[in-house]
Amino acid sequence: MSDNLFLKIISREIPAEIVYENDDVLAFTDVNPQAPLHVLVIPKKPIRTINDMQPQDAELFGKLFLAAQKIAADQGVAEDGYRVVMNCNAAAGQTVFHVHLHLLGGRQFSWPPG
Ligand code: AMP
Repeated sequence: MSDNLFLKIISREIPAEIVYENDDVLAFTDVNPQAPLHVLVIPKKPIRTINDMQPQDAELFGKLFLAAQKIAADQGVAEDGYRVVMNCNAAAGQTVFHVHLHLLGGRQFSWPPG
């Protein structure tokens, strides 16, 4: 049994609406969407938080952004614009301790976010 929720999605132990996958990255629809498009882009390698990122993970984090770029284009939000968010630890609201990039689109976002 995998030891975190997102590893269970990677291993297909629990279902998700998968929108993109390659050797290093999986992306799936957020179960509690905050925008018409809300996709989580995760590395297959388990890394708990941004604080746990190592220099050798730099390319992997770049791949998360490249996946987000592709999904945004495929889902038709690239031109209008979209938001990418990564929460780190409790004060930022991180609830799942497997790093993930939120890709949000399909509506107007305000700044600062509050
Ligand atoms: P964070 O608060 O940044 O850790 O984000 C965790 C995200 O995971 C939240 O937006 C949740 O809605 C989402 N989430 C939790 N469980 C699932 C699941 N089984 N499938 C898809 N998204 C999930």
